[in-house]
Amino acid sequence: MEKKQILVIEDEEDILALIHYNLVKAGYRVECATSGEEGLEKAASLQPDLLVLDLMLPGINGLEVCRRLREGHGGEAAIVMLSAKGEEADIVAGLELGADDYVTKPFSPQILLARIKAVLRRREQGPSDSGPLPVLSIHELVIDAGRNKVIAAGNEVELTLTEFRVLQLLAGRPGWVFTRAQIVDGVRGEGYAVTDRSVDVQIVGLRKKLGVCGAYIETVRGVGYRLKE
Ligand code: CA
Repeated sequence: MEKKQILVIEDEEDILALIHYNLVKAGYRVECATSGEEGLEKAASLQPDLLVLDLMLPGINGLEVCRRLREGHGGEAAIVMLSAKGEEADIVAGLELGADDYVTKPFSPQILLARIKAVLRRREQGPSDSGPLPVLSIHELVIDAGRNKVIAAGNEVELTLTEFRVLQLLAGRPGWVFTRAQIVDGVRGEGYAVTDRSVDVQIVGLRKKLGVCGAYIETVRGVGYRLKE
């Protein structure tokens, strides 16, 4: 199988060197860029499978790079953002611009590698919400989208339609972080009044009704929610 290509955009040279070393060791082809401009050029010419993108860059910052890439200047590369602690607003903005995941600094190379592998794996599988309505099974949780039925640890659970849709959205991409705005977007369109605030209320209700399986829904502080992989 051909090696996956990763483009790392990071201006701090010691961090860049650390990432480069670990990705090469893990068997990836790795290219580097130290500014947003250089990163965008290389993304366009190399068409990498994945980008590791630092948000704090001189010149064109990471969010702007992310936006331009998603407007079609860099192909369909997956994006894993690097951000400092306390940049939750930027993380949320990046995820909403179409970044796939993020790692906060300081991070261990193992964590970054694990995120990269997971993102590439999900990319290969494609979104699981295409095709006929699936039956999703995650640990002890079974979601039958065709029948609007949920079974948690062997017990059938009564959910409201909105709760069901929130759960279905999260379960469609286990491990994926959804921002509140993405959950609102995913659930809206069917005439339900859903707001950022009411997403939190739906989650509280869901966790309670799912019993032991409620713990599968994880809060990602300052960012949103995800279903445990
Ligand atoms: Ca930086």
